[in-house]
Amino acid sequence: MVNRGLTRRDIVAGSGVAAASLAVTMSSPASLAQAGGSARLIGQPLPDAVRLSPTPARPQRPDSVGIAVVGLGGYALNQMMPRFAQSERAHIAAVVSGNPDKLRRVGDAFGVLTNARYSYDAFEKIASDKRIDAVYIVLPTGLHAECAIRAFAAGKHVLCEKPMALSSADCERMIAAASKARRKLMIAYRSHFEPYNLEAMKLMRERAIGTVRLFRTEQSYRMGPTSPAENWRTSRALAGGGPLEDYGIYGLQAALYLTGEMPERISATAFQPSGDPRFTEIFAHVSSQWLFPSGAVAQLATSYDSAGTNFAQVRGTDGALIMDPATSYAGQKMRIEGRDGRELTPGNPDVQFARQLDHFAAAIRDATPIRTPGEMGLRDLRLMEAIYASAKSGRTVNLASDGRMLG
Ligand code: NDP
Repeated sequence: MVNRGLTRRDIVAGSGVAAASLAVTMSSPASLAQAGGSARLIGQPLPDAVRLSPTPARPQRPDSVGIAVVGLGGYALNQMMPRFAQSERAHIAAVVSGNPDKLRRVGDAFGVLTNARYSYDAFEKIASDKRIDAVYIVLPTGLHAECAIRAFAAGKHVLCEKPMALSSADCERMIAAASKARRKLMIAYRSHFEPYNLEAMKLMRERAIGTVRLFRTEQSYRMGPTSPAENWRTSRALAGGGPLEDYGIYGLQAALYLTGEMPERISATAFQPSGDPRFTEIFAHVSSQWLFPSGAVAQLATSYDSAGTNFAQVRGTDGALIMDPATSYAGQKMRIEGRDGRELTPGNPDVQFARQLDHFAAAIRDATPIRTPGEMGLRDLRLMEAIYASAKSGRTVNLASDGRMLG
């Protein structure tokens, strides 16, 4: 069922996405995640690269939102947990892990009380822990949906890492669980809080390069030797098709927020080499071409088997916006080419992590709207499903204004 009341621009801007999702039926295409393997919560050793230094993330103000961090892996430990110290409105109230040694060492480093350290088996006990307002899910993607649903059942709000889940059907289940529990659901799309990307969105709204005609983006790196047994990012049950969900999602997002449109047609190619243990279950590269209603065209590529890059380029009738790197943790570069050519340095990308936390806290405490709601995560999963459907069939896929496949 297509929601005729919303334009493609409404959907991209986030307005009306909640309404659109209510019209969803639960008959989305079969998930890649269901194709093989199992998705189970399993604790992992502390990565060698992590050096835990004491970084207590204590409440900054009386109404600070207490967050339970679920999954103490590389991103949680290296990026997000240390950034809680910069947050004005959120603090780490608890940690949840499958590894008791990590619970102890990470809990000590971040000043988490011993009775606020939970195993996955004891997760439901957070329901009666009043110190915990919300759960931050930093697990492998194939585990996001079940964890979010358990958190909502425990009465907690949820900040969920990207991608939201591995299928639009799982996203719909998460949104329904949030709605039933009357709790907030936010997807951790950090670029929506990062000064370069925010400035790029503003420039595009102001038509700084005229009318957008072409968009190009790529997110790639070369993965070292590994296999699904060693690395969840190569497991279909935990990572879906691979690079698109993990890294290419940044280009997919940028294609939407920089053009300000939803695509109406997508054609795609996905390549899975044989005989490479890294790619027995996932794709090595995924590329797609989108046509927008305005006539603008986007080309998106992502790879786990080519030298690192992360750029976005928008070419308009009067100039171009070049972001390279576009969506990193740090080091963003951005320039306008053409009539008003210039380098742009709108701020420090490092603020993106804490601002994301503060935005989530404000939504909980002040009931302000969430800039990156579950409905945005659902929209993006629909587009990924369209990309995989086109790659599988070899045909162009036509889309409704909310990203669902037509026909
Ligand atoms: P890691 O592999 O480093 O950590 C994942 C953690 O999840 C593990 O350490 C483990 O924690 C827990 N876990 C539970 N079950 C499993 C299982 N079956 N297999 C593996 N781990 C399991 O992953 P990342 O931290 O890099 O990624 C986690 C999430 O964060 C993903 O959704 C990813 O897409 C997202 N991410 C977002 C980024 C961003 O920029 N926004 C950047 C990087 C990742 P424990 O031992 O404590 O139980």
